[in-house]
Amino acid sequence: MSFENLGLEPKLLSALVKAGFSAPTSVQEASIPKALEGHDLMVSAQTGSGKTAAFMLPALNHIARAPANKGRGVQVLVLTPTRELAMQVADATKSYGAHIPDLRTAVVVGGMPYGAQLKALSRRVDVLVATPGRLIDHLQARRVNLSTVRTLVLDEADRMLDMGFIEDIETIVAATPSERQTLLFSATLDGTIARLARDMLKEPLRIEVSGHKQKHANITQSLLYADDAGHKLRLLDHLLRDTNLDQAIVFTSTKRGADDLANRLSDQGFSAASLHGDMNQRQRTRTLGLLQKRRLQVLVATDVAARGIDVQGISHAINYDLPMQPEDYTHRIGRTGRAGNSGLAFTLATHSERHKIRRIEHFIGQPIPANVIEGLEPTKTARPTYSDRKGKGKPRKSFDGPRGGFGGKPSYGRKNGESWGDKPRFEDRPGRSGKPRFEDEAGRSSKPRFDNKPSYDSRGDADRPARRFEDRVDGVARKGGHAERSYAHAGR
Ligand code: AMP
Repeated sequence: MSFENLGLEPKLLSALVKAGFSAPTSVQEASIPKALEGHDLMVSAQTGSGKTAAFMLPALNHIARAPANKGRGVQVLVLTPTRELAMQVADATKSYGAHIPDLRTAVVVGGMPYGAQLKALSRRVDVLVATPGRLIDHLQARRVNLSTVRTLVLDEADRMLDMGFIEDIETIVAATPSERQTLLFSATLDGTIARLARDMLKEPLRIEVSGHKQKHANITQSLLYADDAGHKLRLLDHLLRDTNLDQAIVFTSTKRGADDLANRLSDQGFSAASLHGDMNQRQRTRTLGLLQKRRLQVLVATDVAARGIDVQGISHAINYDLPMQPEDYTHRIGRTGRAGNSGLAFTLATHSERHKIRRIEHFIGQPIPANVIEGLEPTKTARPTYSDRKGKGKPRKSFDGPRGGFGGKPSYGRKNGESWGDKPRFEDRPGRSGKPRFEDEAGRSSKPRFDNKPSYDSRGDADRPARRFEDRVDGVARKGGHAERSYAHAGR
């Protein structure tokens, strides 16, 4: 399959050649023709799969076909959970739309000065990429008009819901025309996402290129058990001295942890820096720029700050602290193995954290192979977490390669009709029947409410009020993200 067969305008095809894309990825092949036909889509695709082009190319196709659009207003609106992702989507838009004359893209995100955004919004905007919180501010001040939106994209919709953006999204969607096309991209399409889609999409086609349980085939994952913090540091030092290492991203659970570790690594001679929500945007942009220019070898980051980072030189993703939520594991390791490269993902854990490993393994549907590094073996024997529960394989004493014993697909968590194969699946959603039920435990509210708790215990039906995460993520107006703060409370 080539891009020519997908029905895209020549102006886009020539830009793709310039970008060096020779063939569409699976998610692009599955989504682009259906989006061009005008369907609403709900798409589950892994991070790094080329999902941005999957929604942006069909969205730009309308603009490319009708060049006389000056003064029409915002035609494409993309909502993203974080600033970094918004910036990347805007960069990708400029690249894919490079041959559309005078295409104007604006970015409206929290934590940035209003000046440049006000200026951008005072001019014609064709493509607007925004985080929900800041867009609401502009919307309420009537600085932006969304009545001309033709394509609405909800990118990483699951993450936006986790961050408590549901009410903002509802307000924004209500400001767009009902005849718009809506493209929803999300790591999962279950539960709250399905309910959101029911409310905001019209008979969407459901596309699952690969479920989260079969992702990251190009990333080799390893689990390294450590006895204590000192042992973890020695393991990290060993991993970072791998001669095959190009660039590494190391994840910590707290902002202070990221700073401390980056300082320590710098003292040890690594070219290292931290990235987290307490840094202002200029610092973050500068750090990401250094990473992109390969002037930084090791980035120590928190989950929120690292979300969406797309740097092809990242050969190693290292979980120095475990993620709060199992799905963050997927996002973390997805920072390596970008654009078809292979990548290595290491997870450092103490034995007392085995239950967290088990949750991650159940989420990804496979064991993370436990390994040991010669001379840095843990004193305790690692017991398998995932495979012994499945009754496959006996515990081994130590491992110097990926552990065997994992055969078939896991059976839990699999929904009827859920596809894990690589083959895209289209499924006509049954027509809307009645109002979706969004009730709290007391059945009081008809609106969905989401909290920030890890999804493996209670996503969705919690009765805590939704929170605006953007300001917390930015760490400018209010300090500290919930996830990061929770760890601090736990004394970490
Ligand atoms: P995304 O999933 O949209 O973040 O894309 C991940 C990376 O894949 C980005 O660096 C894109 O530039 C790259 N990419 C997207 N589509 C293609 C393609 N068809 N061929 C090669 N690289 C691609």
